Amino acid sequence: MSNAGLSPRMEKGFDIAQAVAEADRCLLCYDPPCSRGCPAETDPGAFIRKLRLHNVTGAIRTIKVNNILGGACGVLCPTARLCEKECSATGIGRPVEIGRIQRALVEHAWKIGFQPLPRPAVTRGKVAVVGSGPAGLSCAAELALGGYAVTVFEERGQPGGVIRYGVPAYRFDQDFLTHELADLEHLGVKFACHARIDGAAGAQKLLAEGYKAVFLAPGLWAADRIPGGERVAGVMTSVEFLAGLRDGKQAAMARLVEGKVVAVVGGGSVAMDCVESAAQLGARDAYLVYRRSFAQMPAEEDERLAALRLGAHFLMLNQPVGYAVNATGEVTGVKLVRTQLGDMDASGRRKPQEIKGSDWTLDAQVVIEAIGNRPDGAEWRGIVKVDQAGLIVTDKTTGATSAKTVFAGGDIARGPGLVVEAVQDGKLAARAIRASLE
Ligand SMILES: Cc1cc2nc3c(=O)[nH]c(=O)nc-3n(C[C@H](O)[C@H](O)[C@H](O)COP(=O)(O)OP(=O)(O)OC[C@H]3O[C@@H](n4cnc5c(N)ncnc54)[C@H](O)[C@@H]3O)c2cc1C
Ligand code: SF4
Repeated sequence: MSNAGLSPRMEKGFDIAQAVAEADRCLLCYDPPCSRGCPAETDPGAFIRKLRLHNVTGAIRTIKVNNILGGACGVLCPTARLCEKECSATGIGRPVEIGRIQRALVEHAWKIGFQPLPRPAVTRGKVAVVGSGPAGLSCAAELALGGYAVTVFEERGQPGGVIRYGVPAYRFDQDFLTHELADLEHLGVKFACHARIDGAAGAQKLLAEGYKAVFLAPGLWAADRIPGGERVAGVMTSVEFLAGLRDGKQAAMARLVEGKVVAVVGGGSVAMDCVESAAQLGARDAYLVYRRSFAQMPAEEDERLAALRLGAHFLMLNQPVGYAVNATGEVTGVKLVRTQLGDMDASGRRKPQEIKGSDWTLDAQVVIEAIGNRPDGAEWRGIVKVDQAGLIVTDKTTGATSAKTVFAGGDIARGPGLVVEAVQDGKLAARAIRASLE
């Protein structure tokens, strides 16, 4: 099958024969550095070794027992700076393509109808998980494997968190999520959707209902704003735009963007998802507006290049300061001030400084603000310690909070992170919950 028509970032996976051939390049390292490079202990050294020995089902089992979202991580992980960065084969050429092997193995399991996970009996008490993103799902799987009766409470209509309602469809095939959720159901995990647990009072209620422990993983679902943006028609946040594309409003979003000049504000991975989506929905011009330089952008290099290849215009060294609005309250442009780089700031990057008198307006009919995510309005303070940014304070090795029976992990505890990091947070917290209850 050709890759024609795929977005530059929808990399086609290996089939199983290609995965075996790629595994043949593995040097079978002792104490494999690739395994140390995986934040979720998926153990590529072990599953690639099994694949090399043609033990395909054993390789699949290693992935799935270690990482319930092994398929999703195979697609979404920035492997070039994780496992593949550590791969010894780099020294004699290029790293083994671990992510694509992992993805191929998980897909192969579905194709041959192989279920690598046991169906554990419920032998222990019930535990509640709040939020069905990667952290919640991973915690739920690990607890279910330990014999707990787990219910995942999810505010939205379907489970998955950002990988259902954030990551654009051109980058992530929802089949992975569908199958991995089926694996959780196979483990006996129950899902309660449209069930928001509203802060401390909600968590306390769960404990009063007999849940022995609660794992909080609600992620970051509110967006930072450019002052005034919330009152202007045609200005929206990355959360509204991307969730809209995944939540049955694709046609409305396409109508909004098609043929228009769209400005996306921000320089991170989420901004790249927005500007690429706008370009693919048929925006006449899709601008990426960022106050620092190209080299300083937090987005990965491949993400930046993919957006450029799709025709996005990168407008660097421009600071948005407000909006131009017409008589009916619709946005007509982004007010900008040019910047130049000054001395180093706390982030170790040169600080953008506004150039006096350089104000100008970029004409735009749609603006998407992608300048950061933060916790939504749920107030967890009454039950756990929360920092100034609204993040739940945890012990990063156990997910323990200031309350004995409440644990937390994923983005709500570490700030914006990766799927694989959230998976590990869920696993660590599940182990700590088991240790505290057993
Ligand atoms: C647009 C976008 C693209 C990304 N792309 C990548 C990528 O390619 N690769 C990568 O590794 N990482 C990526 N990330 C980061 C990654 O998705 C997150 O780090 C990860 O999803 C965090 O997992 P989580 O479980 O902490 O939270 P989330 O995935 O945010 O899930 C939290 C869940 O909790 C639910 N919830 C919230 N409040 C409540 C409540 N009070 N009661 C009940 N339910 C609640 C939410 O509806 C949501 O389903 C991306 C992030 C974004 C925003
Ligand atoms: S580091 Fe690379 S070569 Fe070594 S075991 Fe892992 S995949 Fe194989």
